[in-house]
Amino acid sequence: MHHILKSQIARCRNDDGTLNIDQLLALVQATYAQTERERSRSERATNLMIDEMEALDEDRRAVLETLRQEHLKLDIALDNMAHGLAMFDPQQNLVVCNKEYMRLLGRENLAAGPAFAQDVDRLNLLIQSVDLPLDQVGQHMTAGRAVECTARMRDRRVLLLGFQPITGGGWVLLVRDITRQTQSDDKIRYMATHDSLTGLVNRSVFNDALESALTDPLGAKPVDVLIIDLDRFKSVNDTLGHPVGDGLLLQVARRIRRTVPTSAVVARLGGDEFAVMIAPSFGHHDRQTLADCLVRDLSQPYEIDGHSIVIGASIGHAAAPEDGGMAHMLIRNADLALYRAKTAGRGTARRFEAGMDQSILARRDMELGLRFALDRSEFELFYQPQIDLATGNVAAFEALIRWNHPTRGMLMPGEFIALAEEIGLLVEIGDWTIQQACNDALYWPHDVIAAVNVSPVQFRTDRLFRVASEVLQQTGLAPSRLELEITETSLISDADQVFELLHDLQLLGVKIAMDDFGTGYGSLSHLRRFPFSKLKIDQTFIAELDREAGSSAIVKTIIDLGHSLGMKVTAEGIETVNHLRQVVNMTCDQGQGFYLARPMSQLQLLQWLEFPSSSRNRA
Ligand code: C2E
Ligand code: MG
Ligand code: MG
Repeated sequence: MHHILKSQIARCRNDDGTLNIDQLLALVQATYAQTERERSRSERATNLMIDEMEALDEDRRAVLETLRQEHLKLDIALDNMAHGLAMFDPQQNLVVCNKEYMRLLGRENLAAGPAFAQDVDRLNLLIQSVDLPLDQVGQHMTAGRAVECTARMRDRRVLLLGFQPITGGGWVLLVRDITRQTQSDDKIRYMATHDSLTGLVNRSVFNDALESALTDPLGAKPVDVLIIDLDRFKSVNDTLGHPVGDGLLLQVARRIRRTVPTSAVVARLGGDEFAVMIAPSFGHHDRQTLADCLVRDLSQPYEIDGHSIVIGASIGHAAAPEDGGMAHMLIRNADLALYRAKTAGRGTARRFEAGMDQSILARRDMELGLRFALDRSEFELFYQPQIDLATGNVAAFEALIRWNHPTRGMLMPGEFIALAEEIGLLVEIGDWTIQQACNDALYWPHDVIAAVNVSPVQFRTDRLFRVASEVLQQTGLAPSRLELEITETSLISDADQVFELLHDLQLLGVKIAMDDFGTGYGSLSHLRRFPFSKLKIDQTFIAELDREAGSSAIVKTIIDLGHSLGMKVTAEGIETVNHLRQVVNMTCDQGQGFYLARPMSQLQLLQWLEFPSSSRNRA
């Protein structure tokens, strides 16, 4: 411009070379106008640009603001998630994470470097156990597979870690605190596998543990199974109540745990039955010692709620592989050995022996059979006459129970009464006997008595009184036609209560006879305490009449004693004419025995009543 101006000025001269002022003025004016035009154009352009730029900035700001808002929302959402969340890029750098993630991992701030590796290190420090090691997780991740694992932390939290690959590389890690949920799951699982009272494992866990010990892939190990049953526990429960019984079981569990090796599995199988599995087993000597130790420990007195309690324990022991290689076999055999320990007088430990199963299984069979016998109407009463020796008439029929066993034929009371008593079935059987005998007696001559044997267990409650009165009322049989035969063993335990019951029965009109007299303890003192209607001289004295000279003196003395106390006397077991003659001579009132008549069924009895001589050879 400067250059153009110079050349234009050069042209503004007169012919003589002097400056032409007018031309110069016109040039200056034109140049000014031009400059002015350009300046205003550029000013307009600048203003336009400024306007445009301002508009542009506003847009950007708006976008940025929206973005900021969105971010804020995302942050709020992320930070309010119940789970920890972190996102990593393919280079393991942390893209984003929420507060919960930081809290769960105990992370304070984000250090530089590959964040994921740092977090894994941190987790590894905090984890106590995990169902899938974190280095294996990496392999799944590289294969692009989602993977989940549960980590139990040292501070007792349980975290569920979920790794989810994202398209384009990288992954999301979701961390959930499942402590509470796991606790309730654990509680449910605990309840399903443990005994709530003692905290010991239950039968199913015991069976599983035994099974896995026996099927160890590294080869079967020797295993010991002990089954422990407490002696007299039921009576503690019955007499001192369930809270004391529970306290006792708790202490028993503690003593067992204390005595057996810590690696042993101790279970409560139910009631007062416990089991111990030791694998690998001890040597023979140690086994014996352990079982004996347990019996001894468990038999020491217990202090519970101010009661000093003494119970005992019986133990059955079976060992693999000698006594069986399968869990159910071992348990069964330990059970059989326990059974043997119990029948051998309790308070001992027994090792299973081959052959035990035969006899005990037969007993178990009987037990099972007995439980169904009443329902299946397999019991039957046979009746043996008691003859009035002065007149030769029948004075009473004694009901003697028989069991028509489905496979073993007719069983005598000696073969099942004790067992029924032991397993608590005799009370029910006793009820049935009274009912049946009274029903049958309705078909006999009106002056003939139904004599029914009652066993000691029937005296433990007042049920006998209730049943007797109900049956009499229902059948209409005169109470004086029912005679209960009791043995002296009924009078040994808790005599006061028994005598009270006997008095009540007598008030009802029922007769009470003393059976098998002379064989029990304290016979004479019992006679003093209760006015029995009848004394039955035990058949062993009668059998000896043939052999021992002294026997007749004893029999005579009993007869005289009974008479002097106003009681009738019956001689049992009259097998010969000689027996009969002797007791008749001694003025015995009644006789009972094979020589007079054998026990017979109700049907045979009715025939016998018509033709008395026809029964001598009956069963
Ligand atoms: P028990 O009450 O002393 O009954 C007499 C037992 O002697 C009966 O045996 C009878 O068959 C047997 N007997 C009768 N006469 C003679 C004889 O001349 N010689 C010999 N050697 N034995 C004779 P059973 O039926 O085997 O009963 C045995 C015991 O079983 C009974 O002795 C009684 O204590 C008990 N018993 C029988 N039935 C019942 C019942 O229903 N309930 C209860 N609790 N016990 C019963
Ligand atoms: Mg009898
Ligand atoms: Mg008898």
